Order: sequence, then structure tokens, then C-alpha cells
Amino acid sequence: MKAVRVLLVAAVMALCGASVLFAASWEAELDRRIAGDADAMVGTVQELVRMKSYNHGSPVTPAEDVKKVLDRTLEIGEQMGFRVYKHPEYRFGYVEFGPEDAPEMIMSLAHLDTVPEGNLDLWTLGGPFEAKIVDGKIIGRGTWDDKGPAVASMYALKAINDAGLKLTRRVRLFFGTSEDGSGDDGLGWSCVEEYAKMCKEGAEEWPAMGFSPDSGSFAVTYIEKTGVNVEGKLPLEAPVSVALVSLKGGSARNAVSDQCNAVLEAADEAAASALAESLLEAAAGQPWKDDVKIRAEGKNVHIDVIGVAAHSGEAWKGRSANVRTLWLLSKAGPEESWGKYAERLASLIEVDTADGEALGIKQGNYEDDDNITVNMGLVGLKDGILGFHVNIRYPDSGADLKVPDVKHYTGQQIKDRVVLAFEGKGFQVGDDKEVKVTGGGKPYTIPWDSEIVVALREAYRGVTGKDLEPIITYGGTYASAWSKEPVDDKGTLFGYRMAAWGIDGGTGMHEPNESLSVNGLIEGTKILARAMAVLGGVEE
Ligand SMILES: [Zn+2]
Repeated sequence: MKAVRVLLVAAVMALCGASVLFAASWEAELDRRIAGDADAMVGTVQELVRMKSYNHGSPVTPAEDVKKVLDRTLEIGEQMGFRVYKHPEYRFGYVEFGPEDAPEMIMSLAHLDTVPEGNLDLWTLGGPFEAKIVDGKIIGRGTWDDKGPAVASMYALKAINDAGLKLTRRVRLFFGTSEDGSGDDGLGWSCVEEYAKMCKEGAEEWPAMGFSPDSGSFAVTYIEKTGVNVEGKLPLEAPVSVALVSLKGGSARNAVSDQCNAVLEAADEAAASALAESLLEAAAGQPWKDDVKIRAEGKNVHIDVIGVAAHSGEAWKGRSANVRTLWLLSKAGPEESWGKYAERLASLIEVDTADGEALGIKQGNYEDDDNITVNMGLVGLKDGILGFHVNIRYPDSGADLKVPDVKHYTGQQIKDRVVLAFEGKGFQVGDDKEVKVTGGGKPYTIPWDSEIVVALREAYRGVTGKDLEPIITYGGTYASAWSKEPVDDKGTLFGYRMAAWGIDGGTGMHEPNESLSVNGLIEGTKILARAMAVLGGVEE
């Protein structure tokens, strides 16, 4: 009896030993398998990049080229041993691994459509659809956004399968076909929309949580700034002596304008050239004087100002041609109604700053990602009305977590301050007044201590030995396509469990010479594999 017991204890100890050994090494086993698959993985990225795939024009279904790349991707997934689903209209497809009866599913959200190649002459390292390897980087449209990360997610799941890891949740790799959409045709993010619609109808399944390897870096996005918008429609009075004939600046609300043009009309030629002269003098005192052209032509004075374009959420990188022009107009006709408006607006938004100081909302700094940005993206004159649009982005009070020494303004506080500042300058502010202030909601936020954020950080640390603090971005990630998606009728949002993530080693997203480094791809796949294993509930 005693001998048997000793044997049993030994057997149990041996078993424990084996399982401890396995627990210590499943990560290493994944790494080993991914290294072994490296050539095949690079080949798959090249194959998909060589398949041009962007959308153009259809309001509903993806372009034929995009469909082909979805077909091929799912075929590869099937060969890897995954279950496969394709939406009948190619709106999305997915592959899945893990016990079929597992009640919960984890989603990785990638996309197979790209933006167009743009100007071919600027692709100096290789054609956008050649997928050449130059200095250890794969060059081509979609290498980094988002075919490379999509392929990495497949090889990560393949490694989990090949290593024989047992999961308690299913892992589903979603491949959207309309992330980069095609502008105004309504395709943007319609893949997620369609999936969510099917979930609501009970035809598809809400993920328990997920991540989107599409934001260009392994830093997890935990706040996507949201906005307050100020829209103005200011009716002009009859001119005293100088008329504002035209004004046009900026191309989009969410971009810093790099060009603004105005035309004034004086009483006669002599008055026009005197006005041009005085404006040139005013401009000469500005550090941006070389960005201004002013000329008299007959009774007219033409003002052409250039600035520096930037995304509204990174407005400090830009220089607003619109605000510079308003400042000049304030000098051109201080007694005119348009001149007074220009003076008030230029003093509220301020030339060449984008920090909201004069609005009383300056806060944070861009090194910590918690700064507030202010951008007057549009200004124009139409039917005697001077119109403008200002976009303000802020991280809200959730940013206190990252920058604890600052009490961050909430959207409502920002809205209140902006209203006060505009009223202080004599503007009528209200829903049907000349200036309307909207927005002020909560940004898309994934709690820092949520299972998804903790697991993604841990996976990164496990492979690289480094910690990455979650970041605040200016918004618009693929993950936030879920921002309005409830899981149940109590309004519980799934969206706050889908985090924007990415893989490192890329350059030139949406630009010429887009690339992804081969080493970045391999390391990224190892990190994705660990994240999927942990989130998938790997049995150790
Ligand atoms: Zn993308």
C-alpha cells in the first residue's frame, strides 16, 4: 500500500513538473513556430499586397479587387485549419479557432481594403503593388495598413493551433472590406456596421472583447479624443468703404487649412493700392510674412495666404492659413462689419497657436497626448454671410489617469468656457443664433485596468521586455467603429471593450513608400500570438 502511494505521489509530481515546464514554455513554443513560419508569412504579405484592393464608388458592396483579396485570405485561413465565414456580399469575412462550444469569443479586427496608391512618381523605393523587399522592409500599399497586421494575426493564430494550445474561448479574426472606404460613398466602416446589425438580429455573435491591429503601434489606445464644434454664420452689414467680395479657406473641418484667399473691393484704384500697401506693411511685421501675397488689381485687393496642413487632432503641427487671413482682414477694415468679426475671431482662435489659450481651455501637452487642440478648419463667405467652423479636441477627465497632476476639463466644461469666450466677444451664442456650439460628449475610452488593456500590455512586455503606457489619440481608429454598439438592450456598450492596437515597424501609412519591416512583422506576430493565447484563456 505504502509503495503504491509513493509511486502515486511521484507520478503526480512528475505530472506537475511537466505541466510547470509546459507553462513556462508555451510562449517560447509560439515564438519558435512563428520564427519557423517567417518566410511563408512574408510571402503571404507580399502575395496580398500584390493584389491591388481599394474601393471606388459603390455605395454598398466592396470593389471586385477587394473581394478577391478577401477570398484569398479566407482560403489561406482554411488551409491553416481554421473555420471560415464569408458574408454573402463580401462585407466582411472571418476565420476562427478554439473550441466550437466555447461560450465566449475574442475578436481581432483587421481590414483588407487599402487607400489608393496615390502619386506613382513618389513611390521611389518600389511600386505600390510590387511588394519588393528593400533593406529588410516590404514596400507596398497595405503592408502596414492593414494587410501586414492581418497576415500577422493569421500566423499568430496558426502558431497557437500548431503548438496544440488549448483555449477556453474562441479567437475570431475579422477581415473588414471597407475600413478605408472611399470617401463619401458610404462604405467607410460599413463592414463593422453590417456585422453589428447581424449581431442585433441574432445572426452573429458579439465578441466578449477584442483589439484592432490597425493603429500603427503596439501602444494601446485607451482614449480617443472627442470634440466640441463651433459653427458660425455671421451676416455682414453694408460696407462703409471697403467690401469683402470673397473669402475661402480650408477644405475640411478636420484639417488645418494650408490655403486661404480673400478679395476686397475699395472705392477706386488709388484706395485699393493704398490698402494693399498698408496690408503689406502689417504682414511685414509677422514671422509668417513670406507666406502672404497681397496685390492690388483695379479696385480689388487680393490676399493669398498659405499655411501648413495638419490633422485637426494634431493642430499644433499645422499653421492655419484661415486665422492668418482673418488677422489680416482685421487690419484691412476695422470699421467694417467683416473686419470686426475677423478681429474677434482672430483674437479668440489666435494666429499660429492651436491650444485654446484665448478660449480659456488651454491644457496638457502633446508629449503626454493630453493637450486640447483648436482648429478653425473652414472659413468662407457665401450670400453675404461669413461662415466658419472650429473643431476642438480633448481627452476629457479620463486623462487624469495618465497625467495625474492635471485635472482635465470635461467636454461640458470646455463647452461652457467656449460659450463664455464667444459671448465675451459680443457673439450671440445658442442653437439658432449666429454661433452654435455642439458636442462636448465623452470620448471613446477603454478602461486602463480592463482585461483587454492589461492583456495587450502584458503580451507586449512578454516579448520585448518593455512596458508601453496606454496612449491617448485624437480619434478615428477602426476600433472606435464599435463606439455606438450595445451588447444588450440595457445599453451596455461592447465598444468599450474593443481597443485600438497595432504593430510596430511600419512607415508611411496612407503615403507613398508605405512599408513594414520584416523584423517588425515577425516580432509583431509573436506579440499578437501571446495576446490571443492569453485572451483566449490558454490552459496552462
Ligand atoms: Zn487601417
